[in-house]
Amino acid sequence: MTGWNTLGGFSYYFKENDPIKGRLEHGPYKYLGKLSYWEANQNLILRWGSKTDIPSVYTCKLNLNANFHFDLGMSSARTKWGTALGRAISSSSSSSANIAYYGGTVAQINNLKIFDPVESWDVGWTVSESSLEGVWKYNSNMKYGYKITEPVRGYIVDRWPIPPINTDPCVNVCTHEMGHALGWHGHTPDWNSVMYPLSSNITTLTNIDKRHLTQVYN
Ligand SMILES: [Zn+2]
Repeated sequence: MTGWNTLGGFSYYFKENDPIKGRLEHGPYKYLGKLSYWEANQNLILRWGSKTDIPSVYTCKLNLNANFHFDLGMSSARTKWGTALGRAISSSSSSSANIAYYGGTVAQINNLKIFDPVESWDVGWTVSESSLEGVWKYNSNMKYGYKITEPVRGYIVDRWPIPPINTDPCVNVCTHEMGHALGWHGHTPDWNSVMYPLSSNITTLTNIDKRHLTQVYN
């Protein structure tokens, strides 16, 4: 049968189409709790250790182009996600901070030799390390829960060089990437949300953006 069962104080998920009926699919998985929402097109969600564990963020603007609003975007992203998660996300002056983002041209980011070469369509990228923490229950389904292990590194590409400039696309990309750094895996199909896969002028986190992530920190 498909469903959740309890063995020795832990909950496990059994799958009906498993070749050996009732066999633990990959488990045992630690039961992490019940989720009220699922907004992602992926079956897993990540988090830092706990609500009080949200790390500080190092940012490094590599180019001096005043039309590249990387610092504003990152500051805005920290404030918005911090408010959503109920905790201030501070900035760090150390490049060894748990989260670090670099902003610059394609050449500048490639010169860091931290990331794979920037693709021609990339506006931002986030790389995180994580390990399986357990499983969440959403309705009768299971979702994988991963714990982020430091460091998380990412970049924002300067794609907005021509004035007069609108700050919004850069702020949108910074806020989107920060969502990934905090554990938002995959994307929402809702094009009004920041966690939609394509960049836009939207800079305000929607309920879809917020509730998907905040629930695993509560
Ligand atoms: Zn994304």
